[in-house]
Amino acid sequence: MDETVIPRPVAPSLVVQGSSARFPVRRIYCVGRNYADHAREMGDTGRERPFFFAKPADAILNVADGTEGLLAYPSVTHNLHHEVELVVALGTGGHDLTVDQAAACIWGFAIGLDMTRRDLQAESKKTGRPWETGKGFDHSAPIGPLHSVKDTGLMAAGPITLSVNGQMRQSGDLSDMIWSVPEAIADLSTFFTLQPGDLLFTGTPAGVGAVVAGDHLEAAVQGLGKMRIRIG
Ligand code: MN
Repeated sequence: MDETVIPRPVAPSLVVQGSSARFPVRRIYCVGRNYADHAREMGDTGRERPFFFAKPADAILNVADGTEGLLAYPSVTHNLHHEVELVVALGTGGHDLTVDQAAACIWGFAIGLDMTRRDLQAESKKTGRPWETGKGFDHSAPIGPLHSVKDTGLMAAGPITLSVNGQMRQSGDLSDMIWSVPEAIADLSTFFTLQPGDLLFTGTPAGVGAVVAGDHLEAAVQGLGKMRIRIG
């Protein structure tokens, strides 16, 4: 590697289930509203086209299988929200992909949390300012181990849930997505040339809400096991 004038930043990557090799991460894209019930709770009719935003790749908090990750309660918020999501990881990419081509780009899936400073996001919406401080803060993307699509299939249906301190908060089904995972990837590829290592958070079902220090979160997606974090 070329010599650098400051220490080279650590390249973000995901833990891969059943492997010592890691999945290098290039970018993290997110779908804004992709479950009708959550779109309604955020003020839409439930039929608007989903939109996209991004988090920095180094916002990832890797949560190993069978462990409880620790997410420090972030600064400058009094309303930290959970959004449980299916995360899809791309092994290949492209521009203007068809839905079939998009499906063929998928390397695998993981459980993710799109943690959100909801008060800052609401202020950004009100003032027309960008979302980065609300959505892209350090460790705003806890992600469990990545499972290969060879093991999981295309994850088109199955329960997706989140409980806080043992109480169910979010309970949806992957089949309730407004846009399927391949459809969302195909649409995203009209805006950006997608590349190996890109991740897409695919949206959250209804029931988002606040967490406080000391809370224990357990996210689950059928076929991917569970991911647990504690708010510090
Ligand atoms: Mn989200």
